[in-house]
Amino acid sequence: MAKDKGKVEKSESPDIITGYRSWKVDWGGDEPKLQSLGAGSEYRWLPGENVSSLEPEEDIETSGKGFYMKKSLKDLKAEGYIGPSLVTGAILPYGKRLIGEEGIRSSKALIDTLFISGNQCQICGKEESAYLLPGKVVCGEKCYNRIKKALEKKGIDPAIGSFANPEYKMLLKELADRYGAQLIEMPPEGEW
Ligand SMILES: [Zn+2]
Repeated sequence: MAKDKGKVEKSESPDIITGYRSWKVDWGGDEPKLQSLGAGSEYRWLPGENVSSLEPEEDIETSGKGFYMKKSLKDLKAEGYIGPSLVTGAILPYGKRLIGEEGIRSSKALIDTLFISGNQCQICGKEESAYLLPGKVVCGEKCYNRIKKALEKKGIDPAIGSFANPEYKMLLKELADRYGAQLIEMPPEGEW
């Protein structure tokens, strides 16, 4: 296969750049894992190095393979990837890289930072999340109690109590520890 050496060299430039992306959380198994978004994307990110299916002789640009990320939190938000129930972080793309206007794609990547974000109640949007409900909805104290009461009134066993999760920040801490990533507050939107 013909190879555009110039392009490959360029995409392998050693400068350190940061990419941003979000994940959903896979709650199955012993520990929660960060899972890629998008239909048909079953990939669970690994602590440390993540390696895409890009073959050494393949061109990253034409293959469509690799790890996708945005260049800024602003671009990530513009596409709807920052919000409740999503975990957002900064990642380091390396290996073969393709750097576009807004996005980056790389053959390898590792998770560097997770942000404390997406923590609003998914039901009212006005309070901090504290519980995980069946159906993977995160909600705050007020909404949790409201739902619980409503169920009790109807004579339905409010089994949601048994699904209540430790606080969202504890979960993020657990994820950050698992991935060896630092956990910090998301920078305010004005700084994106
Ligand atoms: Zn709420």
